[in-house]
Amino acid sequence: MKCYKHESVDASATCQECGRALCRECSSRFSLLMCEGCLVQNNEIVKNRLIKGFVMSGIFFAIGIAFGIMGDSGLFATLVTGYGLFGAYWSYTLMSKFIKGGMPMPLIKGVLALFTGIFVAPFKIYWDVRELKKIEEIKATIISNGIAG
Ligand SMILES: [Zn+2]
Ligand SMILES: [Zn+2]
Repeated sequence: MKCYKHESVDASATCQECGRALCRECSSRFSLLMCEGCLVQNNEIVKNRLIKGFVMSGIFFAIGIAFGIMGDSGLFATLVTGYGLFGAYWSYTLMSKFIKGGMPMPLIKGVLALFTGIFVAPFKIYWDVRELKKIEEIKATIISNGIAG
């Protein structure tokens, strides 16, 4: 079997999504064992999930601000409440990658998130933005070379 992109090169692996034959060079290009087309598709899903995270954390921030205003708590306390909920969202989603299960886990994670979010959020956001950048870079490289097939 020959590589789907390099017709003279023997395949050494197959795309885990569509089963296309990949040569050694093609199969080692990305961290996932996928052909270019499938990787771009897969990255779009990851990208949408990351963007959804930014939107959701923004909503949490707005809820925090609304609580602060309704409680008449002054500017500083209002901002802290907003940032607290904003951070809690990031911390909660991060914890959910490792801690699964039904009640009381979501409750425990929620309480922990309120205390850790302030510290976790900047790192998680930095990481997600980097991930987004990487996805865009890969896409740009693939498109500039033309997607085969
Ligand atoms: Zn594929
Ligand atoms: Zn190849």
